[in-house]
Amino acid sequence: MLSWVNVLLLVSYGACAPQSYDVIVVGLGSSGVTAASILAKAGKKVLGLEAMDRIGGRVKTVPFGDGIIEEGAEWIHGTENSRVYDLATENNITGPDPSFKSEGDYLTAEILSYIKKNYPHLENDKVFIDQVLDLMNLFVNAYEASNDWHDVTTQSSAEGLGGHQHTSWHKHGYKTFFELMLNTYKNGPGLPNLDIKLSTEVSQIVWPKDGSGDVKVSCTDGSTYTAKHVIVTVSLGVLKERYTTMFSPVLPDEKITSIQKMSLGLVNKVILRFPQRFWVENTVYVLVEVDNDGEDLWFTKHGDISTPMALDTALTIWLAGDAAKTTENLSDEVVLDKSMKLLRRFLGQNYTIPEPTGMIRSKWYSNAYTRGSYTFDNLEAPKHPKLRENLGAPLIDAKGIPRVLFAGEATNPIHYATVHGASETGHREAMRIFKSKWYSNPYTRGSYTFDNLETPKYPKARETLGSPLLDANGVPRILFAGEATNPKEYGTVHGASETGHREAMRLLK
Ligand SMILES: Cc1cc2nc3c(=O)[nH]c(=O)nc-3n(C[C@H](O)[C@H](O)[C@H](O)COP(=O)(O)OP(=O)(O)OC[C@H]3O[C@@H](n4cnc5c(N)ncnc54)[C@H](O)[C@@H]3O)c2cc1C
Repeated sequence: MLSWVNVLLLVSYGACAPQSYDVIVVGLGSSGVTAASILAKAGKKVLGLEAMDRIGGRVKTVPFGDGIIEEGAEWIHGTENSRVYDLATENNITGPDPSFKSEGDYLTAEILSYIKKNYPHLENDKVFIDQVLDLMNLFVNAYEASNDWHDVTTQSSAEGLGGHQHTSWHKHGYKTFFELMLNTYKNGPGLPNLDIKLSTEVSQIVWPKDGSGDVKVSCTDGSTYTAKHVIVTVSLGVLKERYTTMFSPVLPDEKITSIQKMSLGLVNKVILRFPQRFWVENTVYVLVEVDNDGEDLWFTKHGDISTPMALDTALTIWLAGDAAKTTENLSDEVVLDKSMKLLRRFLGQNYTIPEPTGMIRSKWYSNAYTRGSYTFDNLEAPKHPKLRENLGAPLIDAKGIPRVLFAGEATNPIHYATVHGASETGHREAMRIFKSKWYSNPYTRGSYTFDNLETPKYPKARETLGSPLLDANGVPRILFAGEATNPKEYGTVHGASETGHREAMRLLK
């Protein structure tokens, strides 16, 4: 009878035991999919947990009419050393779009040369110059996702990749980047070592600071999973909202400082589709409202309007900062109505503007799994130059193993706010896990020593290992340090340090 009870208990325990993996990746945006696919391809058993019902995070390709548009990232910024561009070109998907210059370069050059050539007397017109500055402010915000250009430091650590700044995935959509990494492009079979669970929101990550056991990941649907390592890729906005409850034990102070001091900006798109193009090809319309004659604030803060890379019968109205946030709470009817009024006010004299056949708009702030679009360097950044590095630093257990690792665009010190920058951080953390394979590493071949069954027979084994080679005059010529040579405090960082000190002292004597 007793044995049956045991069997039943074992069976039921087996059914409830959390599934175990080598690595769990929390979030499947650019950084998460990069890390998960690299690790799975290298033979690790990987689980990707994604709160949304789709892969891509802040990359979101959406069908629109007979084409597609991008609610999030649109361009491949830079072609040199870009993981994104390389993957696109290796698969013959994209090439440069030579007709499309960067907005900053294009507009600055155009406006200044236009004023100089046509209206030199305006160069000293304060009102006019202020209006131009307002306009440039809007542009900076639309680019940086900030609310005001005074919030953005000029000492930004951002670096662009070389090469053309505005290539794209065209009609294939940015989603193709993920399909290629996950081997699902053109109905590919996926990656056998990678399990993916969508609509699975991680609520808590408990990690063994003392190095015993696995990291435990709990989800809001009640499921739990364990792994040797967990890579967290959620956005800065999600960390700001959840860091106190999401991690146990609590995060170190430096990481909390990064979370609190860094800024996640907001950019949103309102995309209108028309029955046919009514505007001139490759023109970026610059709309700036000078007098606010009683309109809502958001309606007067438009930087520019552009044509989406993948659908040339649509127009994207860009909104940034508070204007973008306010708009998220308005109904589709209001946003559509105001957007059309805006277009007609500025373009109606030159074009007959038809009614749109559809509208899609992003809400990156309301989305509980993003809470914004991308980070910018605020005024705190120059005072705390290690904010991004500290955000991306792993939580390391007592044995020196990185247990909870952090990726995501915000953790990239120079290529933040981009898809390629996020992808680089996923690669970085996958490599960190490989480096923690202490046995495969030819320069470690293991993690630390323990006293085995031979030890009692050779009680002086550690002292002998640590004894120097003396020359004929008794001078120590080759000395040995390292945790294994410490008779009492072996297997520890401080024990290893003691042996370094010991051998240095031996030389000084
Ligand atoms: C409007 C807009 C335009 C942009 N334009 C460009 C552009 O043209 N070019 C460019 O290079 N970049 C652009 N970007 C920036 C780029 O999209 C991001 O930098 C990049 O996609 C971020 O990737 P990530 O992996 O760091 O984070 P994310 O993509 O945010 O991935 C994190 C994932 O974690 C998931 N998650 C969050 N919380 C949980 C939880 N509790 N449990 C499980 N999963 C969770 C999220 O759902 C998400 O899928 C743009 C972004 C926006 C919003």
